[in-house]
Amino acid sequence: MDQIKIGKFIQEKRKEKSLTQQDLADKLLITDRAVSKWECGKSLPDASIMLELCEILDISVNELLTGEEIEMENYNKQAELNLVKITKQNELANKRLLLMEVVIMIVSVVFLLTLLAIGIIIISNDKSKGWAFLTLLGVGLVQLFTCAFIAIRIEQTAGYYECSNCHKTFTPTYWQVNLAIHIGRKRKMTCPHCGKKVWCHKVLSEKNGDK
Ligand SMILES: [Zn+2]
Repeated sequence: MDQIKIGKFIQEKRKEKSLTQQDLADKLLITDRAVSKWECGKSLPDASIMLELCEILDISVNELLTGEEIEMENYNKQAELNLVKITKQNELANKRLLLMEVVIMIVSVVFLLTLLAIGIIIISNDKSKGWAFLTLLGVGLVQLFTCAFIAIRIEQTAGYYECSNCHKTFTPTYWQVNLAIHIGRKRKMTCPHCGKKVWCHKVLSEKNGDK
């Protein structure tokens, strides 16, 4: 998505309608700062207000995402291109999230081991300081469980799981992911499409089930 081009297009269309940034913001129940950010190409309108924005500016969502008016004959082609771009952006965002999951878990385990090492050093120097060791162990375990909770949440919501039986994708519930037997990111879960309990693996994009 070319944010600068989209921003200029929003500005052009807003002026055509003789609206100030404040007028447009009021109609959408947002701040004029948000409108200004779009027009400078610093952010894109949120999906939740995109339809309303397009209605006010008298353009299609497709034109908004392209940043220009589209001739009718090119319309379908451009719509497909935009769809591909959005899918790619989603995939990239999901990829980053899954990478973050790995980083969170590594940092968390290293932190726990560091606390344990400090605890062992303290207790080997002074046997009466068992409480210090237990405190460090407690802190280490609490942060490990917290990080594991966050990591599983990321794994549940980033991307989709593909059923190895019917090859359709789905988003499982948090507890389904948490309680499933797993090898890495492969998890044995009940597929909501075919109802079988099979191994499901992580994929970045949704499959509509034609396959
Ligand atoms: Zn299935």
